[in-house]
Amino acid sequence: MKAAVLTTPQPIAKRPLRIEDVPQPEALAGSVLLRVRACGVCRTDLHITEGELRPLHERIIPGHQIVGEIAGGATAEIPLGARVGVSWIGGVDGQCWYCRAGMENLCDAPTFTGYSVNGGYAEYAVARADFVFPLPAALDGLQAAPLLCAGIIGFRSLRVAGVQPGERVGLFGFGASAHLAIAVLQSWKCSVYVSTRGESHRKLAESLGATWVGKEADRPPVPLDRAVTFAPSGDVVLAALSSLRKGGVVAINAIHLDRMPQFDYDRLLWGERQLRSVANMTRADARDFLQIAAEINLRPKVTVFPLDQANEALLAVKNDAIDGAAVIANPR
Ligand SMILES: [Zn+2]
Ligand SMILES: [Zn+2]
Repeated sequence: MKAAVLTTPQPIAKRPLRIEDVPQPEALAGSVLLRVRACGVCRTDLHITEGELRPLHERIIPGHQIVGEIAGGATAEIPLGARVGVSWIGGVDGQCWYCRAGMENLCDAPTFTGYSVNGGYAEYAVARADFVFPLPAALDGLQAAPLLCAGIIGFRSLRVAGVQPGERVGLFGFGASAHLAIAVLQSWKCSVYVSTRGESHRKLAESLGATWVGKEADRPPVPLDRAVTFAPSGDVVLAALSSLRKGGVVAINAIHLDRMPQFDYDRLLWGERQLRSVANMTRADARDFLQIAAEINLRPKVTVFPLDQANEALLAVKNDAIDGAAVIANPR
């Protein structure tokens, strides 16, 4: 099969992924073989490809927003040909304290799709049968791909921030994840304040019904109940903190930050403001979000790249060159 393989992480401009012919993987007991239809491109793939997340293997196939059809290892629940999604959380041990306490997103021994095991930048992939999510029929195959990480983790960020219906919520950065989160927020009747660099991202936010849209350094005109930051930038986290009312929460939706600048406790955190990171996701987050996505008819904006353009897709994500999400798709 054809796959995009990473051996040596390098800046994406050097095109570190090589398109190769590799053996098709086999589904062992407890796993399924998927014929990959589409795989969303996530900023975490960029961190892996560029080496900001340390390599775990000499060779890895990235990609953790897989839409595939069951091609092996079928069960009664997921028969041959069934359409399923695979996300970043590829497995947990089920035994550690966190798993037993219902916090499998914090598992001590997790498997990460496209990082600790091969992912979906390929024609076929294998996944643990208990970590694939049947996709509601209402979701389009290509448009479902970015829901599987950007969407689920954006949704988890809203949960971590503690968003209540009708609240004022800030989204700092407006890429793949935020443009999905805004739809969920609207279904909860929240007013949404978007602060982002890049004129096209601001236009997209306006067109999706944001109450207020500003540039990266602009301050929302009202104190916010909650905020979620999406940019991998500590300065953006501080901008979000400084926009909160007392008791407000910032959830950081970024697996990697450039740095966390020093900040003024008295002004930014005092008053029971909270700063929280968002780590991974649970299967319940995935199932709940996919259900909501189908109900609200969520249709993300996607830009499609063929598999042999995987480097170009990542470069586009790095440069914020596309609105919405990049998706690698295989021809039928
Ligand atoms: Zn565990
Ligand atoms: Zn991701």
